[in-house]
Amino acid sequence: MPNNSGKYWVTWANTHAKNSNKIDDLDPVFKASIKAFIKALNDAGATVDVSTTKRSDKRAYLFHWSWKISQSKCNPSDANKMVGVDIKWDYGDLAKSKAGALEMVIGFGLAVPPRSINPPSLSSNHIAGKAIDMTIRWAGVIKIKKKDGSEIPVAYTQNVNANSALHSIGKYYGVKKLKTDAPHWSYNGR
Ligand SMILES: [Zn+2]
Repeated sequence: MPNNSGKYWVTWANTHAKNSNKIDDLDPVFKASIKAFIKALNDAGATVDVSTTKRSDKRAYLFHWSWKISQSKCNPSDANKMVGVDIKWDYGDLAKSKAGALEMVIGFGLAVPPRSINPPSLSSNHIAGKAIDMTIRWAGVIKIKKKDGSEIPVAYTQNVNANSALHSIGKYYGVKKLKTDAPHWSYNGR
């Protein structure tokens, strides 16, 4: 028997489909890149707080469809099935289906319009362990080493998305900035 959409699945996901904030859970190639980049940042005097590394594909599935159904971006019957997640999305009653999905959106704390106009992705680089969310802080100007050992002076900017000097150093390490998402870096910049 499937379990109805709603709060149950928030509790379920917090046990069975957790996100990781451990660098060791990342894809091996990206893990080596990010470790080297973070070491260069730390050596230069910056602090790095990692909030998310690998995201559970099951969690992404629950995020995606609860968001879309609750926000009327699809029909409840459009949600595909996922092995290992026996959830009932469609009650044959639109108001009930949307209410169950909305309980999940609230429980997961998902950003909805106008804060976010896009549903949580089913194909994020986080799912493959090839992205990281992190906050990098320092004061003034620091000299960050590139992979070849040469040092580049980088001034702190409030908006990390605008710090192209920092982005270019990350790129040398194989860590690319997504410029529309402040904490997000990945192997391909998406
Ligand atoms: Zn991210």
